[in-house]
Amino acid sequence: MVENSKFTNTSIRKGENSDFDKQVENFYHSKEWKRFRILAFEKHGFLCTMCVKYGEERPRLATLIHHIVEVRYDFSKRFDIDNVTPLCEACHNRVHSDIKANHTTAKPKKTYAVIV
Ligand SMILES: [Zn+2]
Ligand SMILES: [Zn+2]
Repeated sequence: MVENSKFTNTSIRKGENSDFDKQVENFYHSKEWKRFRILAFEKHGFLCTMCVKYGEERPRLATLIHHIVEVRYDFSKRFDIDNVTPLCEACHNRVHSDIKANHTTAKPKKTYAVIV
């Protein structure tokens, strides 16, 4: 019987564990997360931190809270206030496409890699 070993093992490889994917999905739908998001906006402000950091003339309003270390990589950091940052959708897309790019290509990315 190895049934219960899934959730105790923290080294989860992406796309291989659908139970874990469910757990992540449930987390994003949880009341706790919704409450935590509000806290995060209050702590970090309502402007996109990447727009501000990279000197956009008119920083956009943040529409979401991004995990710097993704929940699927370190589930224990999901409620870590220092592991989250408010982003606008455009910057968020950029962060995630850079994360993916960094996984497939070895060459260091310029500007936006800093946030990871
Ligand atoms: Zn932005
Ligand atoms: Zn994100």
